[in-house]
Amino acid sequence: RIILGLESSCDDTAAALIRARPGQPVAEILAARVEGQDALHAAFGGVVPEIAARAHAERLDRVTEAALRDAGLTLGAVDAIAVTAGPGLIGGVLSGVMFAKGLAAATGKPLYGVNHLAGHALTPRLTEPVAFPYLALLVSGGHCQFLIVEGPERFTRLGGTIDDAPGEAFDKIAKLLGLGQPGGPRVEAEARAGDPAAFDLPRPLLDRPGCDLSFSGLKTAVRRARDKRVAARGGITRAERADLCVSFQAAVAETLAEKTHRACAAFRGRHAVGTPVLAVAGGVAANGAIRAALRRVAEHEGFAWVAPPLALCTDNGAMIAFAAAEAMAARGPDALDLSARPRWPLDAAAAPMLGSGR
Ligand code: ATP
Ligand code: FE
Repeated sequence: RIILGLESSCDDTAAALIRARPGQPVAEILAARVEGQDALHAAFGGVVPEIAARAHAERLDRVTEAALRDAGLTLGAVDAIAVTAGPGLIGGVLSGVMFAKGLAAATGKPLYGVNHLAGHALTPRLTEPVAFPYLALLVSGGHCQFLIVEGPERFTRLGGTIDDAPGEAFDKIAKLLGLGQPGGPRVEAEARAGDPAAFDLPRPLLDRPGCDLSFSGLKTAVRRARDKRVAARGGITRAERADLCVSFQAAVAETLAEKTHRACAAFRGRHAVGTPVLAVAGGVAANGAIRAALRRVAEHEGFAWVAPPLALCTDNGAMIAFAAAEAMAARGPDALDLSARPRWPLDAAAAPMLGSGR
């Protein structure tokens, strides 16, 4: 089947076309377009929801047309339309859902509302023949959680952040240090020149059992270290900035690695699988130092390591199309009154994967 996937839950407008076999891993990406909004929000130091929503509404049409053109397809060749129905900035999610409903109503094609987090968590299966169940660390701009992915619509949460998400912390630290946005890649680039032992930053919650994480204390520690130097000398040097970036990145990597060890043990306690899989997903999984740290954990724990290519770690339309292909094996499409959901937890006990009040 050929599936069109639409994503507009944050500040990327994305459309992709994939060819997938429902319920089977590994799909072919026929076209993938992403339009970011960094320039629109740059002056505000963060994503402004109203500006994002309007930009999505204006761009969905042309991004979709461009993807169809790249794939050499018309809408008539598409078998299903998939759209992020939450969680995310509600204005953006609504823009996408309205646009997708319009396409579905006009063409009679089936419509699938997809949980954005399910899209991230299923991405490892988009590119690799990973079997259920597998352990996924979803680490992004708004989320950080360990999930056992048991099926296309079945997730068990083992633990996660009790405050900020790491991507959000990267973004705030970039802002604090005057590096601009998007924060993650800029902090990572800056970190290359730094000394990770220069600042002694905390490793929050390591003394507590379980897989929960915390990043807000770490962020505050970075701010304090910077403020101390600013108060003493009126500013920080380039070298100190690089040192702070790399010290922060190392603290995040180490904290994630330690909790991943525990999540691996928890997974083993629940599932007797020959060689279990540890997969990462979400924008922060694009970070080289964090990827390397997690890969070492996988090797040490005897887990196979799966990390999607960088363009599939950050927000994209292919993961939304693929999540719909996965769901398709188990159930029919959503009704045209599908609703957009600003909050939509992934845990099986908390909510089913597809929206629309069914
Ligand atoms: P969510 O998926 O939780 O709703 P989101 O969609 O905004 O949030 P993603 O697009 O998955 O998040 O990821 C974006 C986040 O990833 C941003 O916070 C960004 O700073 C971070 N990020 C991207 N690249 C890197 C990197 N190289 N190092 C660290 N963080 C990164
Ligand atoms: Fe995302």
